[in-house]
This record gives sequence, C-alpha cells and structure tokens, in this order.
Amino acid sequence: MEMFRQTINQLHKRISNGEIVAADVVESVKQRIAAVEPAVKAFITICDDSEAVAVESSSPLAGMPGVVKDNICTQGIRTTCGSRILENFIPPYNATVIDRLNAVGAVVLGKTNQDEFGMGSSTENSGYHITCNPWDLSRVPGGSSGGSAAAVASGQALWALGSDTGGSIRQPAAFCGIVGMKPTYGRVSRYGLVAYASSLDTIGTLTRDVYDNALLMNVIAGYDERDSTSINAPCEDYTAGIYDGVRGLKIGLPKQYFGEGLSAEVAAALEQAVQTYRDLGAEIIEVDMPNTKYALATYYIIATAEASSNLARYDGVSYGLRVEGKNIVDMSERTREQGFSEEVRRRIMLGTYTLSAGYYDAYYNKALKVRRLIKNDFDAAFLQVDVLLTPVAPTQAFKIGEKTDDPLAMYLSDICTVTVNLAGVPALSLPCAFTNNLPVGMQLIGAPLSEALLLRVGCAFEQTSGLANKIAPCGGGK
Ligand code: GLN
Repeated sequence: MEMFRQTINQLHKRISNGEIVAADVVESVKQRIAAVEPAVKAFITICDDSEAVAVESSSPLAGMPGVVKDNICTQGIRTTCGSRILENFIPPYNATVIDRLNAVGAVVLGKTNQDEFGMGSSTENSGYHITCNPWDLSRVPGGSSGGSAAAVASGQALWALGSDTGGSIRQPAAFCGIVGMKPTYGRVSRYGLVAYASSLDTIGTLTRDVYDNALLMNVIAGYDERDSTSINAPCEDYTAGIYDGVRGLKIGLPKQYFGEGLSAEVAAALEQAVQTYRDLGAEIIEVDMPNTKYALATYYIIATAEASSNLARYDGVSYGLRVEGKNIVDMSERTREQGFSEEVRRRIMLGTYTLSAGYYDAYYNKALKVRRLIKNDFDAAFLQVDVLLTPVAPTQAFKIGEKTDDPLAMYLSDICTVTVNLAGVPALSLPCAFTNNLPVGMQLIGAPLSEALLLRVGCAFEQTSGLANKIAPCGGGK
C-alpha cells in the first residue's frame, strides 16, 4: 500500500522494524501533494525544502509529515492567518506546539488555508483562495481549519494542527471524515497562536484515526510557562487506556442538540451511533441542557468583542500590511480597509459596538453571565454521565457558495460546537457514517481534562465502524 494511505501508528511500526525509512514516507506524501493539491487547494504555503531530519527520538511522530494551520507561528515560514494584512509576516519565533513537534522530529510540509483569523465555518473567508472538500470538490471542507482537514483527508498529510474557537477543528473534521480534538482550554499551549478570541481559542489535532490523534496529543499537550492560561497539571499518556472500551460508561444525549434544523442524514447517522454504543455496553441517558439555546448569541457577542480588541494591533505601524495615507489615522484606516475582508470588518464592528460604553452592560456583560449558565449546564450533566454525544454540525458539508451571502446562516452551522468553547471543556469529533458519499461526524464532549476518556470512547466506536483512515478521492476516483 502507498505509504501516504497508512496511519502514523502503522508507519511508525514499519520504520521501527527497518522495513522503510522516514524519508520514504515524506516522499510518498509529497508525491500525493503533487497529484491532488491542484484540485484540493489545502495549502497557503508549501515548504518545498522540508525533509525528515534525524533526531534522537523514539516518538512515533519522528519523521512523520504533517501540516500546520496558518495562524500558528512558524519561525522563518510565513504565517498569514488567511489574511492579506499578514501576507508578508514571517514570525521570528515558533509557537510552543511547533517547538514540541520539532523536538521529536516531526516534519512540517506546509501551512494550511483557513478562514481569515479563524472567522468562518467553510474556509471561503480566506483572503487567498477557496479550499475544496476532497470527498466532493463542489463542497466546502468546513472551517475555519478547512485546509488542515482537507490535507489530512486527502492524504497530503498524516497529521495536522488546527485551532478551535467555536468549532474550527471539529466541524471541518466532520465535513472531511477525519478525527479532530479540541482539548480543554489551557491543556495545549497557545504561545504563538495568533489570537482571535482569547478566552475561547485552543490549538488541537486532526488525524485519520483516533489512535493517531492520541499520539499527536501526547506530543503537543502539557504545561507551558509562556502561556499564562496553561494548566499546570501532568498529562496522561493518551494511548494508555484507549482500548478499554465503553462497557458500563454512561453516555448522555442532550436533547437540545437533537432538535429542529438537524438534517435527516445526520439524525439517522447519530441514531445508529447511539445504538452501536448501546450494543457495546454503554448506558444511554437523556440529559437536559436548558441554556443551550442562548449559546450562539452568547458566542457571537463574546468572540466578536474579543476579536475587535485583538485585531486592533493591525494598525499599519507594528507589522503586516501598510497602505500609506495623508496622516497616521488615514494610513491606519486604509491599511485596515484593504487588509481585512468583509467578514472580519463585520466582526470588528459588531465587537466594537457591544463593547461601547452605552451597550457594554446590555450585551457584553450579559453574555458573560449567560456563559456561566452554559458552563453550569455542563457541570450538571457531568454529574450524571461520563461523556455527552451530539452532532458536530446540523448538516453534512454544504456546497461552495451556498451560505456566503447570508452570514447568519453561516453562524447557525456552529450551533453544536460553540457551547464547548464557552464552557472550556474538551470534545472529539469523529466520523460516524458516510451517507451519499459524504462523511457525517459525531461529537463526544467530556469534563475538563477528560481527553483520554474521549479518545477511549471514540476508539471503541471506530473499532466497530470501520470508518478509520479513509482517504478521499479528490475527484480522481481514488
Ligand atoms: N465558525 C466560528 C466563527 O466563525 C468558529 C470559528 C473558530 O473556531 N475559529 O467564529
């Protein structure tokens, strides 16, 4: 079998017993990029000179080629955030996650496309180009980490890093038929992640099966003194109990996630998955999370408020694009007008409005209070059950252009994922069915720091579903 079709775990075994060398793996994946990238367009920057370098490492990630979302700083490699305002930004330092990957000898093949600054759910808001869903090139890969998900699903990478502020790892993973982990807030260092909404942003992992996801988490998770929100608690080995199964575990179905707006395909796939878990010996319990209905409004107030503050730094003076003007204010205005796309400008305006003196209490402060109620719903649920099972998105991947004229329709597609970021808890997205030749994802949500449990519960399903490590045909039939 061509090497790019195998998992990290399989390839690591072959390297360990001397059957192949890491350079062969990198070469295989590079050939796949040459063959399918023109159709998929997952990358903003391809690092042509990337190669496997020998490091003293027994890590399964040693020599394994992967990709990094373009909002994670890579020293000497441009990092655009999908924005024209950072078109020429070359970071002078690495994000902590990159240092950790380098230390074990993982290979970064390039930087992937995304919605500008993470603002979007389809990667259509990129300032560069549109990325296609490798299962159906007329559809979106999801977003905002759409380039990362499409690259992994199409065999152009064995692993990817993404970021998740409101669903940006989990929803593209679901749309592309792969596994995506949004860790607990603070579990993975965000030092070197370009900020979108700081109280919600997380870095996480995208892979083609659950085990590989655990391997990648083992490398990037852990305390970092350079990130003040980092959790100073030891990490488990995420592969250790991964095959322990779900017998006796309680899985909760929050009824608010299964209501109006869910497509028939997604509803049927989830129902099947629930039956699988029952058959595997889990107990299924319906739970009530009454504040879920406020989550989208709360998210879009808090995220835009924080974004308006974070994006104030792009002023044409410090770094990035600069468009000259009559005076400094004019220069700054022109720079921001040209450097930011329409969606980013819309979010800055929304956030500036909700933070303005007259409206701060009515919107921002109220949103913070509702956020607490949403968190309380999760705390109460985890007294009753071990994990929650929900859809990732109400539909499968939608058509390119289908929602671009209607920002509200685009925001609505985040309805199942934003709650998790508001509560700061971890969640895993994994394929639960293929319907009409398109993947359907499901989401497993856990209490803070329960990543290992989520991987174990995901792995139990994956072992019976046969949906691990599927490579998308990219329009070419294979
Ligand atoms: N789609 C959501 C937004 O546009 C979430 C994006 C993300 O997680 N970065 O804000």
